[in-house]
Amino acid sequence: MPYLILSDIHANLEALSAVLADAAGRYDRILCLGDLAGYGADPNPVCEWSREKATAIVRGNHDRACSGMESLEDYRPAAAASAVWTAGQLTPGNIEYLSRLPRGPLRYDDFDLTHGSPEDEDEYLVTLADASPLRDALTAQLTFFGHTHIQGGFLLARRATRRIAPEGVLELEADHFYLVNPGAVGQPRDGDWRAAYAIYSPAQRLVEYRRVEYDVDRAASKIRAAGLPSALAARLYTGT
Ligand code: ZN
Repeated sequence: MPYLILSDIHANLEALSAVLADAAGRYDRILCLGDLAGYGADPNPVCEWSREKATAIVRGNHDRACSGMESLEDYRPAAAASAVWTAGQLTPGNIEYLSRLPRGPLRYDDFDLTHGSPEDEDEYLVTLADASPLRDALTAQLTFFGHTHIQGGFLLARRATRRIAPEGVLELEADHFYLVNPGAVGQPRDGDWRAAYAIYSPAQRLVEYRRVEYDVDRAASKIRAAGLPSALAARLYTGT
């Protein structure tokens, strides 16, 4: 049973639609790693899609911020402005949905789903030094995470931690631990503007990293038309 693994959709309906079209027929269930809302201009359609289609999902920090669960003091101005705008747009049902999303890590079958680090949902796993200390804390050999918006992840072998280059297909070996980031659907920050996602096939022990072009003009113009900070539109073109 292959899984579609999505993270950081960030209310970007154009990117989500392109991913679903690209992956059509290749998966049975959808698993989400949080941040459905924030930054983009379509929080309600993305929430409604998730309510209908996602089999399992954990919350992200923006899901908490946009549903009024925390103060925006620590957020950068553009992120805080988008959280306020999003909170004003969301239907009561979608606010309730976001506010009730479970905190990761969430065990699904024999692997884990988390937004940031398995030890702290808000912590960013960017460097080898961030990932290495987790070797002994991981309870599953495979953990999917997001939050950094950087496709790839880490292989934690007994002696060393290595970065995973998100090129094509990753074969999971039996004695290693893996932290796998599918990348961001709706706001990539790894220098590639295309929407990122992954397909996990447990029977073959394979993770396939994918990128797909989407209608970035439309997504960006909706952000500008909504009166959201224009930097949130501009960054979609550069993937930063
Ligand atoms: Zn995010």
